[in-house]
Amino acid sequence: MVIDNIEIELADIKLTRPYTIAYKTTSSIKNIFIKIILKNGVFGLGSSNVSKYVVGLDTTESYKNAVDFKNELIGKNITYLIGNIDKIENQFINDPGSKAAYNIALYDTFCKSLNISLGSFLGRVIPELPTSITVGIKNIDETIEEINEYYSSGFRYIKIKLGDKIDYDIERITKINEKFGSDIKIRIDANQGWSLDDTIKFCDETKGVELIEQPISVDNTQQLLKLPDSVKEIIALDESLVSYEDAIKYSQNNYGKIFNIKLMKCGGITSGRKIANVALLNDIDLMWGCNDESIISISAALNAALSFHNTKYLDLDGSLDLTKDLVTGGFNLIDGIMKPIDKPGLGVKLI
Ligand SMILES: [Mg+2]
Repeated sequence: MVIDNIEIELADIKLTRPYTIAYKTTSSIKNIFIKIILKNGVFGLGSSNVSKYVVGLDTTESYKNAVDFKNELIGKNITYLIGNIDKIENQFINDPGSKAAYNIALYDTFCKSLNISLGSFLGRVIPELPTSITVGIKNIDETIEEINEYYSSGFRYIKIKLGDKIDYDIERITKINEKFGSDIKIRIDANQGWSLDDTIKFCDETKGVELIEQPISVDNTQQLLKLPDSVKEIIALDESLVSYEDAIKYSQNNYGKIFNIKLMKCGGITSGRKIANVALLNDIDLMWGCNDESIISISAALNAALSFHNTKYLDLDGSLDLTKDLVTGGFNLIDGIMKPIDKPGLGVKLI
């Protein structure tokens, strides 16, 4: 079946809960939506929102690239999925935003044209997993208040953004431990805000932390090699691990036991799976993370995540704070546990 038309939109979306991390405060986002329409009326959807700080270009630039390219895909047969994906992979080597949105839209359209779910097509090996939900950089009272809110909604895995001042970071986690104990699991994201010594100090002076994302700056990633092995067990590479090439590089030595894959860093399901396979071969666990994104790309990430045995951590809360989205569905989220909806493609429905 032939691709008849492609519609591309750049949407401004406000967040219900603006947040601060080590290097920025975010209150609204831009998101690309791509709709691939076949001659018989079947359509599939893709979306993306990239972080310029992490990948070097922003979503508006990706949108322009995506629009410039769309005529290259119109007239192509959706059945030739691999060939169509290769075309995207080669076109958008330095633009994970366009790459991800087209990649996800191609998978969704292809699966819908065959009337199968994306989960079946990728080969799901894990039925469901809990996701963490994130608390930005806040004072202790505000942090505890927000955790209480998430706890009441059923979430048990809480990701805390740190990376501001190490002593206050330790104090925040100590207070959270006193308040919640083993009722919740704590994940940390320092977003490059610490030194090597800060990282060791934090691990010495806190307990009950499940993992730490990107403690040290990307420029100093090599310093992770100096951490004790016991600390490396809970280190997740995030900003340092953008592409397949990074995955090759950081699996050659023990920089950290966990890779955080985001479709918005690497550029979609195909690239994410390539990184996941490198990790699998090297006995590295997977965390699947996100930016603030549509349910479309979050569902794509969830289905990719659940198709790998070494997926241990989901951090896919990125669609929960959008004030509007193009779709509903994709997954059910009950008591913090994400489970894909097994309908054709991504299982999403246009609003
Ligand atoms: Mg992170």
